[in-house]
Amino acid sequence: MTELKPYYIGAHVSAAGGVENTPLNAQKLGANAFAFFTKNQRRWEAKPLTEKSISLFKERCQELGFSSEQILPHDSYLINLGHPETEALDKSRFAFVDEMKRCQQLGLKYLNFHPGSHLRALSESECIERVSESINLALLETDEVIAVIETTAGQGSNLGYDFSQISEIINGVSDKKRVGVCIDTCHIFAAGYPLNTHKECQNTFNDFAEKVGFEYLCGMHLNDSKAALGARVDRHHSLGAGEIGLEVFKFIMQDRRFRGVPLVLETIDETVWAEEIQMLRSFI
Ligand SMILES: [Zn+2]
Ligand SMILES: [Zn+2]
Repeated sequence: MTELKPYYIGAHVSAAGGVENTPLNAQKLGANAFAFFTKNQRRWEAKPLTEKSISLFKERCQELGFSSEQILPHDSYLINLGHPETEALDKSRFAFVDEMKRCQQLGLKYLNFHPGSHLRALSESECIERVSESINLALLETDEVIAVIETTAGQGSNLGYDFSQISEIINGVSDKKRVGVCIDTCHIFAAGYPLNTHKECQNTFNDFAEKVGFEYLCGMHLNDSKAALGARVDRHHSLGAGEIGLEVFKFIMQDRRFRGVPLVLETIDETVWAEEIQMLRSFI
């Protein structure tokens, strides 16, 4: 018998005052997983993490029982690893390596990012190649941290709204052990994958299993969606309050393929995160 891994459930918490505060913020929610930004997500520049911040972060994670497999840091929204212009692409690649290195310094295993946008200046396949190349370059400059591609809603010219696009990006990555996927329930629903009923969840996740494979799943974002199925817009909602409803979250909590990876809320009302985490646990 292989031992069943636990469910790791949490939320994307604030890093205000320093990354060392994130494990405390997660613990207050009753979480055993969390996500956070290792730097301001809307700025290019960031001061390096201080030794003090790094050691406090590690100490608190250990004290509060958060191992690296329970933590899913998210990169800056400015980074576009598929950018059509050389200068902007280089800037993104540089910033991404910096984020990977920050994760490495913090002893973390994953870095979650959005694949990229072609900005209508490249074909989708050209952009996908560029994203894979960007990942390869980043992996060469760093150690151990896994680049975790997030599924997107396909808003604007964002790639990653189809499981086969995710699979193509992975195909282009040389070191398959250092690439993974984060499924965002709001994003895939808005991208057109049905999740309202048990049967629809089965079909959608079987499709993921076929096209990508659960061996690549390194985390999930659990969000309901304000936007309708296939609307291609990214609008998160609280669990059960949007167009998806609760069925998919029950499905996830009863399917062992989702155990052992961080399952992270990015829902819009953080005052109910603790309750949402409790509700998710009650579905197990
Ligand atoms: Zn994201
Ligand atoms: Zn997300």
